[in-house]
Amino acid sequence: MRFDILTIFPEFFGALPDQGILGHGVVSRALRTGLASAHIHDLRTFTHDRHRTVDDRPFGGGEGMVLKPQPIHEALEFLALTPKPTRDTARETVILLSAQGKRFTQSTARRLATLDRVVLLCGRYEGVDERVSQLFCDEELSIGDYVLSGGELAAAILLDATVRLLPGVLGHADSSRYESFGEGDPSAPNAGAPGPDSRTRAATEPNAAQLPPRSTNSSNGILDYPHYTRPADFLGLSIPDVLGNGDHLAIRRWRRQAALAKTLANRPDLLLTADLSDDDREYLASLGYCPPPDLP
Ligand code: SAM
Repeated sequence: MRFDILTIFPEFFGALPDQGILGHGVVSRALRTGLASAHIHDLRTFTHDRHRTVDDRPFGGGEGMVLKPQPIHEALEFLALTPKPTRDTARETVILLSAQGKRFTQSTARRLATLDRVVLLCGRYEGVDERVSQLFCDEELSIGDYVLSGGELAAAILLDATVRLLPGVLGHADSSRYESFGEGDPSAPNAGAPGPDSRTRAATEPNAAQLPPRSTNSSNGILDYPHYTRPADFLGLSIPDVLGNGDHLAIRRWRRQAALAKTLANRPDLLLTADLSDDDREYLASLGYCPPPDLP
């Protein structure tokens, strides 16, 4: 998968694949091994004046400067993309990073990870001339409800979240499935829930109770469960007993409940759309959670 990033600050991304904001961990490894490639383009290369001007004053007055459309147009022509009207957005997409965009989520990352090519356009100043979006971009994406000083951080976040979903990038394919916002197991609703899941798994895997616990078993719309490592006692705080007793079903049950409790505490909004089992609902009720009346 190929990424092209258009920016007026190419040095922000450092010397790929080993340095800079994308030069670490699984993203760096994906770039080094060729599972993904990232090409950084300096918009000033596509200017024609002595000062390499990329911005200008806003029509209608007001503070700040606006990125001009012409260098962006030339940069996109240089990338030899299919023009917007005939572009196959199931293969390639041009994205404007913008606080006014649709919210970038894990499901956006999953969609992007199926494409061959993603072009990321980083704004600066007051933003980018609106005609750039109209003429050349397929989508505007925002990474959250706040305003950054430029699109570079947003582009790096989008690339990181997408690249780690590409087949072969994470050590274990299930790692991205059973994590916060993960899909879970599409063939097994409530994949992490101890009730239906253990029954479903037992039906297809007769020795499910004897199997080691999945390293992660939350998701299906809720947050990941809390993780612990050695030492078992740290500054007087011990790990939950259940994690040390080798009872795999009890561990799975505890993890699901801990994930539910964490979701209730930090992101109760997710519970409105999460795939919850009867056991989940019962447990949430025991924590005092009352779903809105119009929900099943
Ligand atoms: N005037 C713009 C507004 O109020 O929406 C903010 C412009 S911001 C200072 C400069 C650039 O940062 C934007 O063009 C965009 O590329 C990027 N940016 C800022 N916030 C962002 C966000 N939440 N998500 C993605 N990109 C963002």
